[in-house]
Amino acid sequence: MTKKRYVSNSAEREASNSEGQASSRSLVQEPNGSNPSPASTDPQSPPSGGSSKQNPPSGSQSTEKESESKQPYAVQRASAFSVAQEQLNRVASVMDLDDDLREHLSMPRRELIVHFPVVMDDGSMRNFTGFRVHHNTALGPTKGGIRYHPDVTLDESRALAMWMTWKCALMNLPYGGAKGGVVVNPKELSERELQAMTRRYTSEISLFIGPEMDIPAPDVGTDAKVMAWVMDTYSMNRGYSVPAVTTGKPLAVGGSAGREYATGLGITYVTRAMLRRRMGLHLEDATVAIQGFGNVGSWAARAMHERGAKVVAVSDVNGAVYDERGLDPRHLKHYAEETGTVGGYPRADALTGEELLELNVDVLIPAALEGQITRENADRINARVIAEGANGPTTPEADRILEDKGVLIIPDILCNAGGVVVSYFEWVQDLQAFSWDESEIRHQMKRKLLDNLDDVLAITLQTGQDLRTAAYTIAIQRIVDALEYRGIYP
Ligand code: NAD
Repeated sequence: MTKKRYVSNSAEREASNSEGQASSRSLVQEPNGSNPSPASTDPQSPPSGGSSKQNPPSGSQSTEKESESKQPYAVQRASAFSVAQEQLNRVASVMDLDDDLREHLSMPRRELIVHFPVVMDDGSMRNFTGFRVHHNTALGPTKGGIRYHPDVTLDESRALAMWMTWKCALMNLPYGGAKGGVVVNPKELSERELQAMTRRYTSEISLFIGPEMDIPAPDVGTDAKVMAWVMDTYSMNRGYSVPAVTTGKPLAVGGSAGREYATGLGITYVTRAMLRRRMGLHLEDATVAIQGFGNVGSWAARAMHERGAKVVAVSDVNGAVYDERGLDPRHLKHYAEETGTVGGYPRADALTGEELLELNVDVLIPAALEGQITRENADRINARVIAEGANGPTTPEADRILEDKGVLIIPDILCNAGGVVVSYFEWVQDLQAFSWDESEIRHQMKRKLLDNLDDVLAITLQTGQDLRTAAYTIAIQRIVDALEYRGIYP
């Protein structure tokens, strides 16, 4: 392997960002104790007033709910792994990366496919298929989510594992990337069936996971409860408790303060800093639309709203809603928890998921699945900034179209990294059997996100590259450095 540097080690930091210095205990309170949001956080009193900058939705007022499996708004999804490889190849060319390194980084290190039976509530046996992929281990054990969704494939797990490698490296975490999942709609299973499936899947992949090998976390369709079952199953097979085998667990079993909202809050920190530094825009003056209202989307909506942004539209797989005066995310979440969807929310107008993506807002946050903004719809995107809450929501073709339109894209590996940063803190706390308080965790997360944002901006200033290319360049350089020091075994 040649010893060649692709990025200077001493990329000059821009003036250090004072945001990283302070912390706050509440999602509502700013570090100085003031709350800039003009909007109410009382679920009973929706925010009102304020002028509208966005196009009103033109289309459907229908509140008809569509089924989860129909994916009504999903545009045609290309192979996610091809997209991930194309992104790597593009940056490898910019870096003039050696072909052998490029080839090495373009494939996962290990892949596991498991087929396993579960006894259902009616006594029948159902067979499931699951995956676990480790992309790269140069920096340490692998880290990545477990997804339960009917569209889970090996291809998707490979892509998501590769993106995790870049994200962990960009955040300077001692991890490589992993991902896995089961082909299932978890909402179709009873609680007992979900637990049985999770425990059997965990046993099947147990030769691949462990606190020093691969540490799963929640992703689409999984949550803290599922992580507790994974941890318990692994621990039962070892004969002692191993809390550090998963992150995103409930607090009672070794979870970390702040993990549940970390991704959404991190998106808000990064977007606020980027708006101010790249566009001279204050978050308090920004309008926001969010695709997806699960863990990432709902917490991003709340954190944005509490910091003064106007969240005008939100969607989930069954519906989308719009209010030019701004939605109240907490009230909307109560409604969605009761009804199963944001669709039909009485304090807002209905619109389609496609219309949401095309709204004339300052910030669009795709927070659902990969492959949502493609060459088919990129031309119709009217947002000034895309803050990628989901992993891989924008294809490379869409990147080029949006760049020509002057849309600023905050790449997923920077924008949504708050989740893995706090997962790393959870792992460290579990290994040390010592827990940190919430304000410390929020302070450290903000510092890590904004320090790495500084590094990305410094590269864009040095080279004129877009944010994604700059972020990838830093991440890939960190992995190449580790590979060069470690050498090729044997
Ligand atoms: P989740 O299962 O909690 O929520 C997913 C949401 O997306 C749901 O509201 C669902 O209805 C909605 N959705 C699905 N398809 C949709 C469509 N076509 N249109 C509109 N909405 C749709 O999942 P999550 O944990 O919030 O993850 C969302 C994305 O963020 C994924 O790409 C995931 O990989 C990524 N991510 C998650 C985390 C985390 O900490 N959970 C961290 C980083 C990145």
